[in-house]
Amino acid sequence: MSHAYGAITATSPLEKLTIQRRAVGQHDIKIDIAYCGVCHSDIHQVRSEWEGTQYPCVPGHEIVGRVSEIGEHVSKFKIGDLVGVGCIVDSCRHCADCEEGLENYCDNMIGTYNFPTPDAPGYTLGGYSQDIVVNENYVLKIKHNEQQLAEVAPLLCAGITTYSPLRHWSAGPGKKVGIVGIGGLGHMGIKLAHAMGAYVVAFTTSKSKKQEALALGADEVVISKDVNEMATHQRSFDLIVNTVAASHNLDIYTQLLKRDGTLTLVGAPASPHQSPNVMNLIMKRRSIAGSMIGSIAETQEMLDFCAEHNIVADIELIAANEINIAYERMLKGDIKYRFVIDNQTLTE
Ligand code: NAP
Ligand code: ZN
Ligand code: ZN
Repeated sequence: MSHAYGAITATSPLEKLTIQRRAVGQHDIKIDIAYCGVCHSDIHQVRSEWEGTQYPCVPGHEIVGRVSEIGEHVSKFKIGDLVGVGCIVDSCRHCADCEEGLENYCDNMIGTYNFPTPDAPGYTLGGYSQDIVVNENYVLKIKHNEQQLAEVAPLLCAGITTYSPLRHWSAGPGKKVGIVGIGGLGHMGIKLAHAMGAYVVAFTTSKSKKQEALALGADEVVISKDVNEMATHQRSFDLIVNTVAASHNLDIYTQLLKRDGTLTLVGAPASPHQSPNVMNLIMKRRSIAGSMIGSIAETQEMLDFCAEHNIVADIELIAANEINIAYERMLKGDIKYRFVIDNQTLTE
């Protein structure tokens, strides 16, 4: 049995639970989880805001720790290795998306929590727990220093979810890139776009984040509620990555795109955005797109890129029993910029 934190209904606070992990199979790795980041998706899921949540629900998909056991056919890892697990723990392995190494787009991708599995209780349980058993092909190698491990955890979702669209839409020197929402995802987006060499503009609703966003690597910070400030950036962006976790007016961002520019949505709010103004898109051949985390290979590429550029998340480390307060603070935008659970506190 392992200790975990989870919710037993959509309206109950998270509480201490015990769960059972599957026995380590031939291609599996068991990981002693050291830290787990707290993603806004965890809140959407435990509160069933996307519907279909099964209970008890143990969230958490920004997992880092050490390999404690390996199956007999495991070739990529050995006991003691520092590893990570993100949002994906399996996929169908043979569809066109899997064949192309894009298992994040597989119709039968198995997410780290709330996805079907033969293991008890019939759906996956995430990283707010002492350990996890995962097929080695869905585990990532961590090359950062061990001292940075807690700050590496958020790279496994917040990092890859912003890295992937930045790479796909070619953020780099000579490109003007916007990042909307300076939360867990957004603050990573700023650091990554800056490291890729783009000119980075952060959009925030929080005046208190203005100065700090510059320190994260933004070249400019715009208060998105300030119409005049927004107007100075009309028709100037190649790419805007929007991480906001609530529905809002997208037109204020499509107007800022150049001809052929793209507004990529990664925030996944529970209620839909109002329909965008189509003329804004037609007149400049602009696009609104979406992007889903990143593949396993791209997640490894992102982790290696971050290790090379000494990029980690800005975190506030919490004990497991502080998780309900952390959720309330996240909903108020009161975190700079990611909570990370110290999984050793799960037994307290
Ligand atoms: P977060 O830490 O709570 O940050 C979201 C940020 O959005 C806030 O810090 C705030 O930034 C801004 N914001 C919140 N409410 C707003 C509102 N009503 N109007 C305008 N701005 C608002 O959340 P996160 O963990 O980064 O996750 C963000 C979203 O991405 C969630 O919906 C999550 O489920 C989704 N997600 C998607 C993927 C994917 O694969 N596409 C992966 C992971 C997460 P400011 O204070 O700067 O305004
Ligand atoms: Zn996430
Ligand atoms: Zn597949």
